[in-house]
Amino acid sequence: MSGGDKLDFEIRPNPAPVSAADRAALLANPGFGRVFTDHMVTVRYADGKGWYDARVEARAPIPMDPASAVLHYAQEIFEGLKAYRTADGGVTMFRPDANAARFVDSARRMAMPALPPEVFVDSLHKLIEIDREWIPEGEDGSLYLRPFMFASEVFLGVRPASEYLYMVIASPVGAYFSGGVKPVTVWVSPDYTRAAPGGTGAAKCGGNYATSLAAQAEAIDAGCDQVVFLDAVERRFVDELGGMNVFFVYDDDSVVTPPLTGTILPGITRDAIITLAGKAGQRVEERPVSFADWQADAASGRLREVFACGTAAVITPIGGVRFPDGEFLIGGGEPGRVTMSLRQQLVDIQRGKAADPHGWVRQV
Ligand code: PMP
Repeated sequence: MSGGDKLDFEIRPNPAPVSAADRAALLANPGFGRVFTDHMVTVRYADGKGWYDARVEARAPIPMDPASAVLHYAQEIFEGLKAYRTADGGVTMFRPDANAARFVDSARRMAMPALPPEVFVDSLHKLIEIDREWIPEGEDGSLYLRPFMFASEVFLGVRPASEYLYMVIASPVGAYFSGGVKPVTVWVSPDYTRAAPGGTGAAKCGGNYATSLAAQAEAIDAGCDQVVFLDAVERRFVDELGGMNVFFVYDDDSVVTPPLTGTILPGITRDAIITLAGKAGQRVEERPVSFADWQADAASGRLREVFACGTAAVITPIGGVRFPDGEFLIGGGEPGRVTMSLRQQLVDIQRGKAADPHGWVRQV
């Protein structure tokens, strides 16, 4: 079947899956991104033919021609979301339709074909169904789903490729913060920017992460956990972290996050927090925050809390900020009340422990 918005997935079960005992040992301490399930999804695309050969099959290396376009010009996009086991034995995903929509937007920016959102969401259901036993039990574990797509055409010309491979792999992950939520210290990069106006900042393409690594290495050298990027034009306003959006909480109960002007990733966690904070009675503003104001408001005490957010860690309090000329603390370096309350609300919805008035949770 080709071209349409629905595809029939051919299921080819892995003939040699990991044994139950080995799987239990792996799930006891999965870490992040090193353990993978027994299966993967593959769907092919070719110009003139559309999407075809949709499969769930044994996870295995993929043979690649050295002239595959992605290896040269980086036409590649990806997504990240989680499946959770709920207390009643069910399995849920958080807003997979939002990831599907962002995948379409990322594809457009990278001159790639748009995968129909129905196929994206269906592919996740199919993989979770067959690899359900890989979802960790317990409060903190989840199955991280990694859909991605790349230019597979064998051709060295610089133009949008005519063939692509869409895939999904899945990785069980443990608690992000073992032993309680810990505030991080961030490094404000003086040298590197992440995305310029008109660039690819709003797309989830691999290239954005490749360019962030030198800045992240600089952050680690400076004794920090993560890098914060300033805008590429004036080097004045806060954009986001290497892999998370950022929020500021002030003493008048206002909550501020940088606007979506094309240079930051439209985070799905960010969007959910805007909704939850508004419902909790906070005044939510999407407006630029300068680094100078961040510093001044932290010093005056007007700025009470700062946190980063994203799928991996949900909400991470930011306790300290370092830059070449100095450093400062926020809220004495401790997690703040608003930060922790928003975190709890979101986790409870994701794990089916609280009502879901916004229809964010999908049963698998
Ligand atoms: N910004 C960047 C650069 C990211 O990589 C991510 C993670 N996808 C986010 C923000 C947060 O997005 P989300 O809440 O959708 O995970």
